[in-house]
Amino acid sequence: FSHMDTVGELIERNYRLRPDAGAVTFEGKTQTFRALTERAFQLANAFHAMGLRRQDRVAVLAQNSPQYVEVYAACEIAGFITVTINYRLAPGEMAFILKDASPSVLVFDPDYAEVVAKLSADLPGMQCIMIGAAGTGAFLSYEALLQGKPAVPPPIASRPDDIAYLIYTSGTTGRPKGTMLGQAAMAQSAVAHAWEKEHRESDRVLAVMPLYHVGAKYTQNSTHAAGAELVLHRSYNIEKVAADLQTYKISSAHLAPIMVQDLLNLPNLKDYDHSALRLINYASGPMSVALLEKAIATYGPLFMQHYGMTESGGTTALLAHDHVVTGPPEAVRRLASAGRASPGTRIKVVRSEGSECDVEEAGEVLMLSRMNMSGYWNNHAATLAAIDEDGWLHTGDIGYMDAAGYLFISDRKKDMIISGGENIYPREVEEAIYRHEAVAEAAVIGVPDPRWGEAVKAFVVLKAGAMVSEGDLIEHCRAHIASYKKPKQVVFVAALPRLANHKIDKKELRKEDWGGLQRSVN
Ligand code: ATP
Ligand code: MG
Repeated sequence: FSHMDTVGELIERNYRLRPDAGAVTFEGKTQTFRALTERAFQLANAFHAMGLRRQDRVAVLAQNSPQYVEVYAACEIAGFITVTINYRLAPGEMAFILKDASPSVLVFDPDYAEVVAKLSADLPGMQCIMIGAAGTGAFLSYEALLQGKPAVPPPIASRPDDIAYLIYTSGTTGRPKGTMLGQAAMAQSAVAHAWEKEHRESDRVLAVMPLYHVGAKYTQNSTHAAGAELVLHRSYNIEKVAADLQTYKISSAHLAPIMVQDLLNLPNLKDYDHSALRLINYASGPMSVALLEKAIATYGPLFMQHYGMTESGGTTALLAHDHVVTGPPEAVRRLASAGRASPGTRIKVVRSEGSECDVEEAGEVLMLSRMNMSGYWNNHAATLAAIDEDGWLHTGDIGYMDAAGYLFISDRKKDMIISGGENIYPREVEEAIYRHEAVAEAAVIGVPDPRWGEAVKAFVVLKAGAMVSEGDLIEHCRAHIASYKKPKQVVFVAALPRLANHKIDKKELRKEDWGGLQRSVN
């Protein structure tokens, strides 16, 4: 195979060519590619000795750590499927995923021993391995498992057509779906990401997002693809981010939009030297143009927006400096864009009956790429609904494309508000609200309205010490968007509910007004 063909090869290539280079730095310690690969070999041999064969599932319930990377690597090399579990899910949701994926083993952090004890009671076929040197009656110890196992390639190896990961979607719109991501697809995506981000061997890349989510996995894989070093945080802490950007002279960091906001709000930001930074890439949701402008004023135009989803190994990419340096109005407008399709991905926008939209006309975003998922695990009906006969992935997102191929994401199909027969995209309303200087965060939903079908409701978090009345904020929106789009109601809250990946949890916001009602929009 070439190094485009399996994700295991991304790591093994570094092992062969530069074994003593740093692969992962975690809490002050650096693991070389030699150490990482040899421990992954040992783990893969241990799994094989336990009876696991190619495409058997290995589940992980853990916060970020070198062991998380080792488990991934063992599976990537030997052809097991890594099933990642979001540790912030409720036990019932974890049980759903474990039953759905039926893993042979579960590797977990000691922090989750209690919940694992409960979960494993219903899953007698699943062996539980606790990270660390300690074991208990029911749980094997991770270190004991590796002990004495040969640090050589296991007797089985992954193949390009194998499934590499089973990653469940965030569950923003419903029950999470298990996304099957292939070895070759993920290897190609790693190389495409590394190319987009211009990673080099000498780079250090900061990863703070959880490794159970596809975004952090892309960051890890593209870092390995370039032979660069991953500086991994166990979980997100903004002071640690600011400190490590300086300590490790980080050249590239992957942050959620809210993290960029936290960074800019740090009172002592000016005390840090972040001059090694060449790139901050963000994805998973939009960053308001107001925030992006502020970020660029502080850091310069080094921001790259990605748009993608668990189902799409491919993404779009847009680097702010392509646009802000020269700054004609048309280019500045592109700051709100998610960029153009990255290499290996084609994107089109279609009307509900399937024909392609005109330039600037909003419709559903479709993606075609060999990097797309192979389908949803155990859910053929959902797969058929998501991928059409020609292989296009229907994203469920609404957007439009400008004449130069820049994609603008308006919103999710499921979030679109229909009020008095007019389509309203919450994001547009949120952008208008963000333009008010008192506003720190905003989220807009549609709520049932006897007269209009749905009405626009906004949840707003104000900046510390700032004040604005509901009426004034609604009036402010009038100046930026059409009157029918302005919120009918503004609720001021202390914080917005968020999912584990820091996305605003609109399902939670909708609960109060929709209760048991079903939204008609779909
Ligand atoms: P579920 O599919 O279970 O409802 P989810 O769609 O939130 O959850 P993910 O795959 O983690 O799960 O997220 C992908 C979605 O995130 C995209 O479909 C899109 O709605 C949103 N998204 C990602 N990047 C961007 C971006 N740059 N701008 C706007 N929205 C984005
Ligand atoms: Mg989705």
